[in-house]
Amino acid sequence: MSILIRNATVVTAQTTYFSDIGVSEGKISGIGVGLKLDAETEIDASGMYVCPGGVDPHCHLGDDFENASKAAACGGTTCVIEPSVQEPGKSLTQALESWQEKARNRAAIDFGFHVTIVDPNSRALDEIPRLVDLGVLSFKIFMASFPGTPMLDDGSMLEVFSRVRRAGGIVILHAENGHIIDFLTKKSLSAGRRSTKDCAACHPRSAESEAVSRAILLASLTSAPVFFYHISCMSALDVIRKARSSGSMVYAETCPHYLFLTEQVYEQGNIEGAKYLCAPPLRDNSDQKELWKALVEGGIQVVSSDHVGLNIRSQKELADIDFTKIPLGIPGIGTRVPLMFSAALAGRVSLSRFVDLVSTAPAKLFGLYPRKGEIQVGSDGDLVVFDPTIEEVMGKSSFCQTYDYSPYEGFRLKGAPRFVIARGEVVAANGAYVGRPGAGQYLVRSAASTAV
Ligand code: MN
Repeated sequence: MSILIRNATVVTAQTTYFSDIGVSEGKISGIGVGLKLDAETEIDASGMYVCPGGVDPHCHLGDDFENASKAAACGGTTCVIEPSVQEPGKSLTQALESWQEKARNRAAIDFGFHVTIVDPNSRALDEIPRLVDLGVLSFKIFMASFPGTPMLDDGSMLEVFSRVRRAGGIVILHAENGHIIDFLTKKSLSAGRRSTKDCAACHPRSAESEAVSRAILLASLTSAPVFFYHISCMSALDVIRKARSSGSMVYAETCPHYLFLTEQVYEQGNIEGAKYLCAPPLRDNSDQKELWKALVEGGIQVVSSDHVGLNIRSQKELADIDFTKIPLGIPGIGTRVPLMFSAALAGRVSLSRFVDLVSTAPAKLFGLYPRKGEIQVGSDGDLVVFDPTIEEVMGKSSFCQTYDYSPYEGFRLKGAPRFVIARGEVVAANGAYVGRPGAGQYLVRSAASTAV
């Protein structure tokens, strides 16, 4: 299987240039003007941009692996890294194996796993170096409690940080102060405040910034690199910017929902509001402005989806009882890259910065670079051909998402993927999935290159 893409405007995190690109046997085999390749498939990319495939290091596919990975592919993501979750009393390796089972023969694109440490007993912690050898570089911990994932205390965090540091890995944090959230939630429920708007109020900005600040302090004592999932507000961002400017190995992502939506949606009533409930919750316009500024200036390095494949039916509609009954999270694995590409075309970030945020930086941080996140000879043939002239109003099933709503229904996109190529095969064309589930391979990741 070989593909020749002709007349492309190639965009990488570094530069933009005009070229042809050849892909053979799953890898980029040639780059140059007037490239000769006797290819089975030829794509004329005149007037189009060709970028490295998206890398999504924060998404939850779980038992929905096939559908979610197809949607990722249709939206220009060619690689996902999902947190696998330890069960209390069980080993970290079992978490990895059970998530590998969910993906087996179902993945439309390549995939890797982080391991979430839920029960940091000494036997589990002893597994960390072996897991790093097996290609798992990143270990996630929770600073607030959610169903199945209780928060870790400071002592356990220090222990995890120092073990992961020694093994050459990176720690991922869900940074919200769980004590604050639990306290406010209890108070809210006992006062009869059970709406989705009340849920958001139980996750204040201060809970986020306190946790970020404490995690940075604990990480600095152990010299561990840390990556913050879903930064949502200015006060947390300020702490991160300060730590980064003093040279700490501190990295952060935000997600499209914090960039394109605000807390105003919670005013629309319980079920409508529940569609947008996530932790941390959506914030206001001034937070959003700071997040965009940080994308441009570098304070935030990654935009990932934090996709959860939830539906209104039998999930979000439970908001009418009380907010603790609704699963938190938002579907968005397919819409992440198109939303960001459209924003880049509109000038909100440069095209190279767009590539860095959705592909190159996450590939570097999580040990996949330059196999993923780059256009160079020898890199995987993961490419997105974007047509800047496509105009689309998004619906709930845009980019093959299969949930009964999308938070971006009615959003106007300018520019979208025309073709998506994953390890040398066309997996999506004109918004439709044309690949083979099961074609995605498990990725063994190698020592994190944290120079982002
Ligand atoms: Mn998440």
